[in-house]
Amino acid sequence: MKNYLQSKESEMLALLERLVSIDSGSAHKKGIDEVGEALGEQYLQIGFSPKIYEQSENGNNIVLTLQNSETTPTILFVAHMDTVFKTGTAEKRPFTIKGDRAYGPGVIDMKASQVALLYAMKALAQFYPKVLHHVQIVLNGDEEIGSPTSRSLIEEYAAGKKYALIMEPARKDGSLVTSRRGGGRYTMRIKGKGAHSGIEPQNGISAIEELAHKIIKLHALTDHDAGISVSVGVVEGGESVNTIAPSAVGHVDVRITYADQAEWLDRKIREICESPDVPGTSIQLEGGINRPPMEKTTQTMELLEIIREVGSEVGVHITDVATGGGSDASFTSSLGVPTIDGLGPVGGNAHSEEEYLEISSLVERTNLLTNVIVRLVGIS
Ligand SMILES: [Zn+2]
Repeated sequence: MKNYLQSKESEMLALLERLVSIDSGSAHKKGIDEVGEALGEQYLQIGFSPKIYEQSENGNNIVLTLQNSETTPTILFVAHMDTVFKTGTAEKRPFTIKGDRAYGPGVIDMKASQVALLYAMKALAQFYPKVLHHVQIVLNGDEEIGSPTSRSLIEEYAAGKKYALIMEPARKDGSLVTSRRGGGRYTMRIKGKGAHSGIEPQNGISAIEELAHKIIKLHALTDHDAGISVSVGVVEGGESVNTIAPSAVGHVDVRITYADQAEWLDRKIREICESPDVPGTSIQLEGGINRPPMEKTTQTMELLEIIREVGSEVGVHITDVATGGGSDASFTSSLGVPTIDGLGPVGGNAHSEEEYLEISSLVERTNLLTNVIVRLVGIS
């Protein structure tokens, strides 16, 4: 299969260039749908039937299952089609190859993963067509904004699966991802009372002063050893420098490492915001912890071990890491489905202008993926 994939390398790079040249930021429905159509067509050619879940504002989500599937699929793949880049980026910063690396918006997160997944399926169609019956794929269009429309779809299709393989890129050093932090966001809206700070300061109640108390208390919940962090990342407030601030807003980012920390942390945050520190102010708290952590379970470690074995057979040394960022892996793993993430090609600097793909990893990781699937299905 390696030879087959190697012979397809230039075709894979051409498809990657085509996908990178389509702007598909999470807010750009048209572009995401165009990516979905380009991929759907190719999956159709190897016998998959795409089921499209139309969205009015977000990109459509697509579920791919083999036509006339003879069995219930046991392996779920999840790969997102959206990027974090604004419309126009593809024209400003087009796909380019410099040395051993390819650049362009979304090249590693995760258009190279889309190419790898498609070509893994093409290789299977050629060499192990029966294996395809065991595979189901969700291509979603809103991962970069937290999967608001695709989360329930992912959960629906993950339920009952033996394995979930998530196509986020491998880390810079090639590591797979076996745990991710969970978390959520809160917004505090504080009301005080405005007054001229020179003429009648005694009549004012500062919402900014109240916000300051809350920030200190919330930040004190951070416990790096326990993997909990609470950070007010954006504040707004006040009207002019000589006015006692009548209002202030604080936006809070929270991260947890274990699922059982969510309830405790949410309760603490609510307790802190329940009563004012500055008498006369009021506070309205919105938000919550909505993303479960991906925990490294015994089942995850067993799955990793299988991938490690396959890796050693195909010449890829497998390491794994934990990461702070979220992905759809959290949704499948919190359902109890053994999940490994980072199965895409190797690269780095995602979400920045320096985002890159290590070109040699495109074929290498596709080959790994193909062999992993064959092993998991148990046909060889
Ligand atoms: Zn991603």
